[in-house]
Amino acid sequence: MADIIKLLPDHVANQIAAGEVVQRPASVVKELMENAIDAGASTIKLVVKDGGKTLIQVIDDGVGMSVTDARLSFERHATSKIQKAEDLFQLNTKGFRGEALASIAAIAHVEMQTRTAEDEVATHIKIEGSKIISQEVTVAPKGTSMMVKNLFFNIPARRNFLKSNNVELRHIMDEFHRVALAHSSINFHFYNNGSELFNLPTSNNRQRIVNIFGAKTNEKLVPVNEDTQVVQISGYISKPEYAKKSRGEQFFFVNNRFIKSPYLHHAILGAFDGLIKKENHPGYFLYLTVDPGSIDINIHPTKTEIKFDDEHTLYAILRSTVKHSLGQFNVIPSLDFEQ
Ligand code: ADP
Ligand code: MG
Repeated sequence: MADIIKLLPDHVANQIAAGEVVQRPASVVKELMENAIDAGASTIKLVVKDGGKTLIQVIDDGVGMSVTDARLSFERHATSKIQKAEDLFQLNTKGFRGEALASIAAIAHVEMQTRTAEDEVATHIKIEGSKIISQEVTVAPKGTSMMVKNLFFNIPARRNFLKSNNVELRHIMDEFHRVALAHSSINFHFYNNGSELFNLPTSNNRQRIVNIFGAKTNEKLVPVNEDTQVVQISGYISKPEYAKKSRGEQFFFVNNRFIKSPYLHHAILGAFDGLIKKENHPGYFLYLTVDPGSIDINIHPTKTEIKFDDEHTLYAILRSTVKHSLGQFNVIPSLDFEQ
């Protein structure tokens, strides 16, 4: 039999990778905002139109890219963030896979403008469906602007699958909240269809929560703080009387990265047990800091799930810490409340 195996051309491989990384406009927002954070930006501006279907733009004042890097950034597995496999366990960047820009450029019309502090001129690159359309020298401030238009222009099935502009905008808001909550020292702007939805000044975690969810949130928050060898916990839980029927605000951040964890969520529910009705949900904003060597972030392309070395210990610490905070702030009827 003749040989039949062929290597896929880059644009096809990129499109396949995009299927995993880019589910909807909100995924693009997440990837671009994370790149801006990794670039050390102090101000990040997000601009979207029509639920991100026609335009998603992220502008940062970070380190920018040289001409060569600007071009290379769209190649698959091209990253400045890791060099060897071991680096995966000492990560302090959001990115490391080198897949986001290659994926996004495979399924959208992308325009990048970028300049480093050392360079006098900026680079302007247009790329559509993995093909570089033009590359020019231009004038621009230090930093990077990434414009993503017509997402899924070449994958009609994916484009048709998108929900209404409002629903897509809601997903974008969720991503924006997650990133903004994890980085309260960065100034964020968010414009939708020409109007400003958020202008979040540099602040601390508590102020950031209040700036996003409204002044009334402030009185609902109970501080949580714990420092152990395994984990450092800070953040806030909502007082039990504010538990809601809808799921509401529930956030875990691990080393400044939003994560989903049904297991740790269960630990919080345990701490609230007996204080809230079964059908109600507590609110929480919990920031966990752990040794990067004790977690694996590389288990899912979107990096919202991570694997902890010692999940059981973390569970126990989290549960007792939250319980302690509830008691300390007199929100539990008696301090020796136990099940
Ligand atoms: P990753 O973030 O995993 O490295 P990406 O595809 O998201 O992969 O980006 C590729 C590379 O492009 C990054 O490693 C970085 O060097 C560069 N880059 C992307 N976005 C920016 C930005 N906003 N500012 C500066 N450099 C950037
Ligand atoms: Mg990235």
